[in-house]
Amino acid sequence: MPTAIPTDKAYAWEQDAHDNLAPLRGEFVVDDPNLIYLDGNSLGRLCLRTANRTREVVEREWGQRLIRAWNEGWFDLPARIGAKIAQLIGAGAEEVVVADSTSVSLFKLAVAALDVQANRPTILTDDLNFPSDLYVLQGAADHLGNAQQVRILPSSDGIHGPSDALMAAIDENTALVALSLTTFKSAFTYDMAAITRKAHEHGALVLWDLSHAAGVLSLDLNAAGADLAVGCTYKYLNGGPGAPAFLFVRRGLQGKLRNPIPGWFGQHKPFDFDLVYRPAIGIGRFLTGTPPILSLAAMEPGIDLLLEARIDAVRAKSLQQTEYLISLWEQILAPLGFTLNSPRNGALRGSHVSLGHEDGLRIDRALIEEMQVLPDFRYPDNIRLGIAPLYTSFADIWEAVDRLRLVVTQRLFEKYPAKPPAVT
Ligand SMILES: *Cc1c(COP(=O)(O)O)cnc(C)c1O
Repeated sequence: MPTAIPTDKAYAWEQDAHDNLAPLRGEFVVDDPNLIYLDGNSLGRLCLRTANRTREVVEREWGQRLIRAWNEGWFDLPARIGAKIAQLIGAGAEEVVVADSTSVSLFKLAVAALDVQANRPTILTDDLNFPSDLYVLQGAADHLGNAQQVRILPSSDGIHGPSDALMAAIDENTALVALSLTTFKSAFTYDMAAITRKAHEHGALVLWDLSHAAGVLSLDLNAAGADLAVGCTYKYLNGGPGAPAFLFVRRGLQGKLRNPIPGWFGQHKPFDFDLVYRPAIGIGRFLTGTPPILSLAAMEPGIDLLLEARIDAVRAKSLQQTEYLISLWEQILAPLGFTLNSPRNGALRGSHVSLGHEDGLRIDRALIEEMQVLPDFRYPDNIRLGIAPLYTSFADIWEAVDRLRLVVTQRLFEKYPAKPPAVT
């Protein structure tokens, strides 16, 4: 383990000086250089190009071109941006489309999958999954008359997903396996290829939520034989608050699945205004209504930046930075009562590191209020430190650890109540 990594500030600066991706930080709005932003896993920073693109789409395309803009690029935007995201996740250009929120996209694909697996009674997931995903899965089962039941397999330590138990549970009764590839609290990351292979051996489908993986892991959905996936674009893709999600359906499955919310944008020819719904051929059938054009336009520059950086280089830097953070935790923060609530093994870890502490919530408050550090907090005691390699520097990580150390050694957290604010 990297216990030998030096803990001095000069080492962090040296790493930044040798980092090929470091110049990309200049592509982002960094309004306050003293603010350490470690929440790019919840809301990515604003790209400078996005600010320009947003102005252009509002002032020129909407303001001047008006309705004509639909034929000058807007209509194709969900598929065109989907094709770019496809390059980031190892999918074919015609397998990805961007339209609704992650939750809505998940509902559509879960119902579509459960519908074609109606003779199989079980939906498998885990208790590290994002609760909203569990609500959606339950809602999908309810929608189909509750012939299928959600079975939530427990993690043994709250950090690692129950991979072995899942593999053992997949059988002829399994309709669907639905998991977050990278889990939101600990960043534990499943082996997509292994689970998909096992599911396919038994005729089950797999639906991945890539929200904490897309834009920061080297994904290859096609190589893994993945069936279905959804993912968030306002986290590591820097798409902006509420940016719509992407959904992926393997080409061979597209013609077999029905969109449970059929609407005119998923119709074969929307502008024929046919009274009978005929689904579009291909991924377009999973669209429903008019897509959010302003948000779609705003997400493109962030995706372009990731494509320019190359996702393998982004993953390599992310791993190096989470290793660095864990090494600083071990040497500086563990003696102060912090626990590591993320996998130690880099191959099992996404791009954030969760640190636990019995006064975690109050420490989090003190970091935000007094230390100019923005992490986020997830119950019961996780301070999540998100690494977004396009703009997180090694110096940011060093500073964050140093300020965490100060909050505890100077007991700055003691004046904060243990009661949470509305959004953590
Ligand atoms: C962020 C996230 C979501 C967000 O869903 P929305 O519908 O965009 O609010 C869903 N699932 C997971 C796993 C997430 O991390």
